[in-house]
Amino acid sequence: MGKRIHNFSAGPAALPLPVLEEIRDELLDYKGAGMSIMEISHRSKYFDDVINGAVDRTKKLLGMGDDFHVLFIQGGASLQFCMVPMNLALEGRPVDYINTGTWSTKAIKEAQIQGRDVRIIASSEDRDFSYIPRGFQVDGEASYLHFTSNNTIKGTQWPEFPEAGDVPLVCDMSSDFMSRPIDPRPFGLIYAGAQKNIGPSGCAMVIIRRDMLDRIPEGLPTMLKYSTFSEKNSLYNTPSCFVIYVIGLVLKWLEEEIGGLEAMETINREKARILYDLIDGSGFYRGTAEKASRSLMNVTFRLPNEDLEDRFVGEAAKKGLGGLKGHRSVGGCRASIYNATTLESVRALADFMSHFEKTQG
Ligand SMILES: *Cc1c(COP(=O)(O)O)cnc(C)c1O
Repeated sequence: MGKRIHNFSAGPAALPLPVLEEIRDELLDYKGAGMSIMEISHRSKYFDDVINGAVDRTKKLLGMGDDFHVLFIQGGASLQFCMVPMNLALEGRPVDYINTGTWSTKAIKEAQIQGRDVRIIASSEDRDFSYIPRGFQVDGEASYLHFTSNNTIKGTQWPEFPEAGDVPLVCDMSSDFMSRPIDPRPFGLIYAGAQKNIGPSGCAMVIIRRDMLDRIPEGLPTMLKYSTFSEKNSLYNTPSCFVIYVIGLVLKWLEEEIGGLEAMETINREKARILYDLIDGSGFYRGTAEKASRSLMNVTFRLPNEDLEDRFVGEAAKKGLGGLKGHRSVGGCRASIYNATTLESVRALADFMSHFEKTQG
């Protein structure tokens, strides 16, 4: 086997090595079926067990009861930007959004395209999305309050979720889903593109509270209705079978090898601490997010100039540290340290950063 790198890619992102090994081991003959999971009918008992296992583990990890449905929907997180207002906007009532960066902006645009009464009740655009807004008012008129829990590109994250009273929260959790425990009760809907924290790309996990299903307008196209997915256990049409299978394995790893979301959060905090301590202790690296809003998943930072940043990314790659270039829209550097990125990888990055500062700084 070739050498695997320390992968800090923002997405598609690193998967846990034990999961990749399990996929490899059962790829040619899935549990005695004589074929791979990619070649098995989605109507078979094999796949029933796969999808039900993934759903059950999701609910168990997040502490959710039967008042939530777990769905797998193709089209990534981006399709959810339009499905949310289509399904959950109440007639004659506004939809509220908090704008904390690129992904929130895209979600807002999709609601506006549909002609909704979109209210942006808080935004951090005034300081280049470098912080999480506080002290805003949520008014009970709103159909829902949409926010992005972790801003993958700017490296900010909600330390605690907004309080919205009876207004259901709707959250794009793509880049910190399953990275820490949550209280699911205030959420009407949670969605996450799988390729950051729970699996390969190709589908989003959507968790919808049962009462939200009553809102879905009759006239929507079948494939754009959450009820189509909830009524058929995401098997109305052929789902992303392989993706769902890998998600199931990642969740099993999270539960059995990591020990659940509290244990995961402890590890994630330690990984982030190592990098932020290094950045704060250096006159060379500069974090781009305000300290109180820093992400535990995407550590964004700058070097003194762009030449050094290019050299940093290039030298790191030579040392087997990949994916450190910032998003093309903002430049700089970014280390994405999702669940599957190990403490060992983070320590290797910290060592490299210290060394680079000493030799180039
Ligand atoms: C990556 C990302 C998306 C886009 O996901 P796709 O699956 O590519 O549509 C949306 N929101 C957030 C927060 C992301 O990190």
